[in-house]
Amino acid sequence: MIPISAPLFAGNELEYVRDCIATGWVSSAGRYVTRFERAWADYCGMKHGVAVSSGTAALQVAVDALRLGPGDEVIMPAFTIMSCALAVVRAGAVPVLVDSDPQTYCLDVDQVAAAVTSRTRALMPVHIYGHPADMDPLMELAEQHDLAIIEDAAEAHGCEYLSRRNGCRRVRCGGLGTLSTFSFYANKLVSAGEGGMVLTNSDQLAERCRSLRNLCFQQPRFYHEELGYNYRLSNVQAALGLAQTERLNEILDRKRRIGALYDGLFADVAGVKLPPRHDWASVNYWMYNIVLADDLATEASAVAAQLKARGIETRPFFVGLHWQPALRARGLFENFRLPVTEHLSRRGLCLPSGPALTDQQVAEVATTLKSVLATTRSLSGAPSH
Ligand SMILES: *Cc1c(COP(=O)(O)O)cnc(C)c1O
Repeated sequence: MIPISAPLFAGNELEYVRDCIATGWVSSAGRYVTRFERAWADYCGMKHGVAVSSGTAALQVAVDALRLGPGDEVIMPAFTIMSCALAVVRAGAVPVLVDSDPQTYCLDVDQVAAAVTSRTRALMPVHIYGHPADMDPLMELAEQHDLAIIEDAAEAHGCEYLSRRNGCRRVRCGGLGTLSTFSFYANKLVSAGEGGMVLTNSDQLAERCRSLRNLCFQQPRFYHEELGYNYRLSNVQAALGLAQTERLNEILDRKRRIGALYDGLFADVAGVKLPPRHDWASVNYWMYNIVLADDLATEASAVAAQLKARGIETRPFFVGLHWQPALRARGLFENFRLPVTEHLSRRGLCLPSGPALTDQQVAEVATTLKSVLATTRSLSGAPSH
């Protein structure tokens, strides 16, 4: 089976993990945690990094750090992972969904502007599949309405956004929000196995995130005025994360090479839409994705099943948050129609694209996909030339 994504540990990973074990520093009190926080915050151009146990935990800490609660609205895309809504709903606040921009698959910024109300407290843009969301209009809205931005950059390690506000400057994703969040899950570009981080330039918010991560301990010890979490990251995970961060440029090069290979191999295949690209964004091909044209008489799930039968693992696109039974059971999103999100969910597919993938495997995936699509075409009676 060609896996959808396997991490590649080719640098100091083993040395650093061995050091944790040799020295006995395996909990969150070890030095790799602070080194990883410093390295990642520096890389993204933010003042503070607070390492946590997952990207989901990072979102929850970010929402709580802003003290969002009942009645507060957070605008987010429907086309994203459950973690985004989860963080907001768990805080008792309200997720407000907008559809995707068909040009980026990220949230549609015009719809965000239309969704702002007097109860809106924060925007939660997500850089989907390693393509930056269009942040300038969101930052403008945030300034106008005094909103926070929680930038979910879990899929956007190393991506850059060309901001045209106050003169042009390239900013790393994760360096744009009031708070930004990352995941270091095994399939993310920088992987700690499991892990996450919150970044911010605010001393106060960073302090709050640190406190929330660690049960809101205070002085005197074992006395708590607030409810926190145990979302600490271990030194062993941070050791992996730090070693991966040191190699991020290599990982990015490899991912971009895989993306360029796929782009070339699919360039002449009718009915296959390649991943979004814009000149104001540098992408990382976190998950190389395709969207099947409407005239192909098949669904992405059927193509996935055929690829699986031929030894190729794929990953379906996100299911819209407005379709999640766990959220609808709370009376949210009844009769919602979000056509772009629904189209992407039905027609989109992520292909193998981990950094350990070889050029030969990329070619094999492309050849197999083309042959699966050719079968579909002849079955649907479309001309086969
Ligand atoms: C992976 C991911 C998360 C969640 O990260 P975990 O570490 O798996 O909890 C959150 N948001 C986005 C956009 C992600 O891709």
